Amino acid sequence: MKEKDKSCLKVAVPLSLRETFTYRVPEHLAHKAEVGMRVQVPFRNRKLIGYIVGKGSDDHDGSLKEILEILDEKPLFHEGLVPFFHWVADYYLYPIGRLIQAALPGGINVSHFKTGRLTEKGLQVSDLLSPDSEEKRLLIWIKENPGKRLPSPLKQAYVFQKRGWINLESKTNKKPVGPLKRKFVRVKEGVNRDTILGKEAGSSGIKNERKFLETVFDTGGMPLKTLSSASSNGPYLVKKWIKKGVLEGYDVVVFRNPSGNIMFPSTPPPELSQQQKAVLARIQTRLEKGGFSTYLLHGVTGSGKTEVYQRAIEHVNRLGRQAILMVPEIALAVYMEGIFRSRLGNRMAVFHSGLGQGERYDQWIRMAKGEVDLVIGARSALFSPFPRLGLIIVDEEHDISYKQEEGPRHQARDAAVVRGKMEKALVILGSGTPSVQSYQNVLTGRYRLLSMPDRIERRPLPEMQIVDMKEVLEKNKKNGVISPALKEALDRNMAEGKQAILFLNRRGFHRVYLCRFCGQSVRCVNCDMSLIHHLKTNHLACHYCGFHIPCKNTCPSCGRQGMRAYGFGTERLEQELKERYPERHVARMDRDSTRRKGHAFKILKKFSKQEIDILVGTQMITKGYDFPHVTLVGVIAADLSLGFPDFRAGERTFQILSQVAGRAGRGDQKGTVIVQTFNPEHYAITTAEKHDFRSFFEKEKALREQLGYPPFSHLACLKLQGNNSKAAVTMAQRMGREISGILKKWPKRGKEIQVLGPAEAPLSKLRGKYRWQILLKCEKAVLLHYLLEEVQGLSRKVLRSSGVSMIVDVDPYQML
Ligand SMILES: [Zn+2]
Ligand SMILES: [Zn+2]
Repeated sequence: MKEKDKSCLKVAVPLSLRETFTYRVPEHLAHKAEVGMRVQVPFRNRKLIGYIVGKGSDDHDGSLKEILEILDEKPLFHEGLVPFFHWVADYYLYPIGRLIQAALPGGINVSHFKTGRLTEKGLQVSDLLSPDSEEKRLLIWIKENPGKRLPSPLKQAYVFQKRGWINLESKTNKKPVGPLKRKFVRVKEGVNRDTILGKEAGSSGIKNERKFLETVFDTGGMPLKTLSSASSNGPYLVKKWIKKGVLEGYDVVVFRNPSGNIMFPSTPPPELSQQQKAVLARIQTRLEKGGFSTYLLHGVTGSGKTEVYQRAIEHVNRLGRQAILMVPEIALAVYMEGIFRSRLGNRMAVFHSGLGQGERYDQWIRMAKGEVDLVIGARSALFSPFPRLGLIIVDEEHDISYKQEEGPRHQARDAAVVRGKMEKALVILGSGTPSVQSYQNVLTGRYRLLSMPDRIERRPLPEMQIVDMKEVLEKNKKNGVISPALKEALDRNMAEGKQAILFLNRRGFHRVYLCRFCGQSVRCVNCDMSLIHHLKTNHLACHYCGFHIPCKNTCPSCGRQGMRAYGFGTERLEQELKERYPERHVARMDRDSTRRKGHAFKILKKFSKQEIDILVGTQMITKGYDFPHVTLVGVIAADLSLGFPDFRAGERTFQILSQVAGRAGRGDQKGTVIVQTFNPEHYAITTAEKHDFRSFFEKEKALREQLGYPPFSHLACLKLQGNNSKAAVTMAQRMGREISGILKKWPKRGKEIQVLGPAEAPLSKLRGKYRWQILLKCEKAVLLHYLLEEVQGLSRKVLRSSGVSMIVDVDPYQML
């Protein structure tokens, strides 16, 4: 083997390129360059900011370009994290430079962009163009947004420039966010306290001057702001004594406290239950032994998983290693922070997309420096740059928000297991309702099971009451959203001064098409998927394989005239409740009402202080929160998730019902859960009613095995989209044919991969784009991956200048 050339660096650049590039380091920078630093490099007539991912190289021809600059004093990530970046990039077919860019806190990445200004000629042309042409739209946009970042793609803008319609300018984002500094004041070195206080201050005649000086001497250094505002003549005194050479100003790097706000008062650690002790003992033994292992902690809601996490984290910290605690929602990260902050103080960080850029920068640097023992965060915490990672906990591991749906489309839970393996850390996946996939991994021996079947203090699980909405509608056709049974329970609950949660799942999809007599939805003959109702063309379609039929009023299951589109939003429910309980406080928590930073947190805080009586919400409210005064939970329409066009619809329904039910009766009063549904016999509902995960799992597993869905196969979804409807469908069909062509050339193995579609996406037009998808299914991950690499290469050729783009979604969750 050739000797590695030490004067070279491997650099990942944030472009749509899967490979890394080799650069030479000029001598004067050689001693500074380390893996994990950002560098400025020349790249095809441009300057780019890249990331050093390796030192030395054995595969270059000697004609290398030189890096221009090193941008960091200290690495932003350690070398041990690089193989993980590579793995995520390869497995999810995403450019590694873009992945690192997305993983790092936004504030440090300077980006370049183009702006445009209309010329005189452009102004004239814009009046002449037809009002609904694409060109006109873009020109008008540029006219109204001079100096703003142009929307990509820029192709059209370049054409405009050539024609002399606009002037393009290159801009760089504002200066990168650095550490936050504060001015401090201290006594200059060598100044004698007694001399100053004895003589000078005593003679000046300003009565608070002595006190002022004493304060500075005593503290050794104070924020300028504090000192100045301590008295009315504070600013004068500071200036005076600096001038005299007694005091001096200096900068201190301070860290912003991301929330500064603890949601619940900290309680002393409770005595552990027997099952908690047993589970913890196994975790601790494993941590002491070291090395990689994955545990699935199956603990029913209210069994005390958080306490186990906490002790496990404390244990790994004592062993000198760090921990990542991942939670599915930002609001939950804030809640967990409240619990952990009181015990870990400043040795912890919080990292999620809800923080400002500066805050995230601070947290990241503290982690990279090893000043932090624990990070709590949503899926972005996965890449935390801990140098000695010992433990990764993924709480609520079944939650689908671990799957990222833009940029690098990774599954953070699955990737966490890979990171644990690479860095020899223990991984704990916790859930009250484990995902079918993770539980199957227990059965095959990949994961080990830890189980906590009892609630703490043996509190009973809440009673679940199923309301058949078919019967309700039969009795009273005009019945609103809330059934009489739920109304009655709410009345009682309110009269007793308790709190209630009403849950309405409407994830993206607002309507299902089902029979109001038998509750059945229409399903695909090929895929057993709920068909989607397309309003405009009035037909039902499968978005896995493309099968479609016209819409009929007649139900295919019972033959009666009962098919209806069914669905409504949280706003309507909130309105109905406000009218019914005008004296009560009703609040709503969903993505629309919590878009503003910190708003979700405010609602939760109010609810925990009992300032809100009824909380209406989407799946956001089902997650992990502990509200002891909630004794009633209502599920408004279980069918909205059952009829969801997804092979995981049953799994999600079971999870949502169990999680929602877990919110009731966490205090000393028993809770009640009322579930409204058109499908009271469905196994996801009957097993949730009995809190019977095992029965649910067996039934679901059998169905998946029969239909060949994950975990018994691997899926990938190719998502094609374009501005032109005809081009989108043509290209989708062409890609489908090309893929079949590749598979035919693999006589043996080609048959192991199934191509479904192309089919129109359920949201067939989104933000002006027409969307189609092709689903690939295969039992062997490696084989599927091999095909995907081919397909990605092929798509570059086939789709070139067609105006249609393709995204590969590996292990897809949302096919909307
Ligand atoms: Zn029917
Ligand atoms: Zn189908």
